Order: sequence, then structure tokens, then C-alpha cells
Amino acid sequence: MKRLFWPIVAAGLLLVAVGAVEARFVFAPLLGLFIWRMGIASFGSLRQGAAHIPDGPPVAVDMAAERTTYWCSGCGAEVLLLVRGAAVAPRHCGERMVERREVAGVPRT
Ligand SMILES: [Zn+2]
Repeated sequence: MKRLFWPIVAAGLLLVAVGAVEARFVFAPLLGLFIWRMGIASFGSLRQGAAHIPDGPPVAVDMAAERTTYWCSGCGAEVLLLVRGAAVAPRHCGERMVERREVAGVPRT
């Protein structure tokens, strides 16, 4: 279907240019096809945005070596991470929380 898209568009424009078909009979299906492709592309971008889905099993955080907290800029809530499930920060109040990582032996910045 993707290979046929541009040849069909070119054939439709050619038919309109020579006057064989009225323009509305060519442009209405092309507009419908354009809307369809935009919808499919939107669903594709939603599928790619699912970075919160973990890659593997949850991993316990070594509290002696690392302390990771997440802070919500909306309400000020702070969460201590005990088990890491995904690499991205969780959401709170509709926004992504700010990650603050403290590693043992490294001066705090
Ligand atoms: Zn919040």
C-alpha cells in the first residue's frame, strides 16, 4: 500500500490536469487517505512514547551505595526509590518527577 501511494496521487493529479475526472472525485479520497495516514502515525508515536514500560524485572537499589529520590515540582512530594522498575522518572501531579541521585563517596553538588 505504501508503494502505491505516490503513484496513485500522481495518477489522480494527472487525471484532474487533463480534465478526465472532476477534482472533487480525486481530492476527497486523497484527503481521506491523508487523514487516515495521520491517524496511524499518531498511534505510532503513542506506541514509541511508552518508555515507562520496564525492560526487565525490577532491581533492588543498593541503599549503602546509592540513594535516589524523586521530587514533584507540583506539590513538593518526595519519593525514595527502593526498587528500580524502569529507567524513566515516575509522574506525579501530571508531571515527570525530578530525579536526585546521591552516590556514596562522591561529594554532593
Ligand atoms: Zn505532586
